[in-house]
Amino acid sequence: MNQDNVELIFQWFDQAASKIEQAHNMTYLDSLIEAGNWLFYKDEQGELSDTLSDLENINMDVFKKEEVRKGLQLAILKGMKGATQQHHYITPDSVAIFIGYLVQKFYHHSKEVTIFDPACGTANLLSAVMNQLSQNVTAFGSEVDSTLIQLAYINANLQKNAIELFHQDSLRPLLMKPADLVVSDLPVGYYPDDENAKSFELKAEEGHSYAHHLFIEQSLKYTKEGGYLFFLIPNFLFESDQADRLHDFLHKQAHIIGLLQLPLSMFKSDKNAKSIFIIQKKGKQTTPPKKALLADLPSFKDVHAMNHMLKQIQEWFDKEYH
Ligand code: SAM
Repeated sequence: MNQDNVELIFQWFDQAASKIEQAHNMTYLDSLIEAGNWLFYKDEQGELSDTLSDLENINMDVFKKEEVRKGLQLAILKGMKGATQQHHYITPDSVAIFIGYLVQKFYHHSKEVTIFDPACGTANLLSAVMNQLSQNVTAFGSEVDSTLIQLAYINANLQKNAIELFHQDSLRPLLMKPADLVVSDLPVGYYPDDENAKSFELKAEEGHSYAHHLFIEQSLKYTKEGGYLFFLIPNFLFESDQADRLHDFLHKQAHIIGLLQLPLSMFKSDKNAKSIFIIQKKGKQTTPPKKALLADLPSFKDVHAMNHMLKQIQEWFDKEYH
């Protein structure tokens, strides 16, 4: 990957979005979406062509997928800075790449895989994972927020990644078959739709249910037997008032494969800290691991410590899946 290309892509999007923002009185993120669609559809006759006429031409076909993802990600992050809506955030790059590494470790034998992210946001996590897999990948992403799903759409198009997107509440039925695997940075908090929550085993007995619990249940429903699920979860997941019920539910439906705590230094406070939680949907052929993969991950910037960790993870794989 060439960092200059990432910078070039970011600069182009940043300038394009700033121009559209001013000329058409839109938010920076909506302007990014317009710019991305304009670039993808090469809409030279369109209204935006005047606004963008003095920008240098950029040919997206010459860049690598990861360069496009990272360039766009920088622009999206700029647009999200100071956003009032808390849910306008994106899975951090280092975490997305690390989850991609894990997925590739579990699935390198498969020729084709289908992946589902029920909280796909901008599809940064989903694309980072797809870009690390060498097999044929078909992906499905669902997201309730209209700005984020449009960002996911330009992300997929400009990286030429096949992602089928659903703009809906992911806790409602989805028009898709179960996928081979799930990756998801789960939304954390209460799910406001008590009526719909009633159809879930993990609904709260009183008041609002936890969205993150319902998302785990829904994800398992849309995963094939034996498929793995890679979640980014809050560290407090197993300490809440409803943790026992979640535990019992998981015990029935899945094998706990691993829990990798991200370094606390990545988060504003310990309360916001997250872990990567890996489970496998039970099936006729599945057996629990001899030993779950448990670790505290070092800082991703500490190359030496990270290499040591990757070696330990490899040893775990060698023991479990020889
Ligand atoms: N992985 C994403 C990325 O890389 O951009 C970020 C995911 S973000 C942590 C969680 C997402 O869940 C948010 O984009 C939020 O809008 C979405 N979300 C929350 N509740 C939802 C629901 N009921 N249905 C669909 N999406 C939902």
